Amino acid sequence: MEKQYYFFDLDDTLFKTKNQVIKYLNSTYKVDLNPEQYHCGNSLFEIVKSHNTNINISLEEFWDKYRIEFLMSSAWHREVEPMENMVDVVKKLSERHYCDVVTARQSPGVHVVQKLLEKYIPNCIRHIHFVNQYDKGVLKKVLKNEYIKQFADNSCMFVDDNLGEFEMVKDMVPSYLFDPSNHHPEVASSMKFSNWTDIGEKVL
Ligand SMILES: [Mg+2]
Repeated sequence: MEKQYYFFDLDDTLFKTKNQVIKYLNSTYKVDLNPEQYHCGNSLFEIVKSHNTNINISLEEFWDKYRIEFLMSSAWHREVEPMENMVDVVKKLSERHYCDVVTARQSPGVHVVQKLLEKYIPNCIRHIHFVNQYDKGVLKKVLKNEYIKQFADNSCMFVDDNLGEFEMVKDMVPSYLFDPSNHHPEVASSMKFSNWTDIGEKVL
């Protein structure tokens, strides 16, 4: 059988990033958020501001700081763990097919992403696609659907916990929302996964 392409989101799809994000925000902004208050799609900036009204920082400054202090920090990622059963599924799948990571993160944090992948799923990922790429300091956006489009004829699956990105790709490639806590009951269960055991059953 010809090799097919599989596309997986990084944060809170392959890896459990949320707890570390919350820890970072709590320590940086002196707030007391818990992981239940945040799921993909809601705004971290608004959540932080609603918990500490003394914060005097613009949206742009908030994300710049987040990029430099969190996304580019190996230290903050030391405790990031894979989703249960993900390692097993991706290792087996990558023996037969191409697995790509597609992430909204920014390309200057590539070393952090590579380290995570090397630690848990070494040599399993063919390519990491960053939506936000910096070329000589200039930001260039290549959305996930634009990237995946070139492989559409040979693609089997796209999995992401972000509803917007799932919606953007779903008419092009079989797509699934990763939604372990059922934040989106409006999406049919046949188009969702709540864990990697189910993904494994579908793809292996
Ligand atoms: Mg995500």
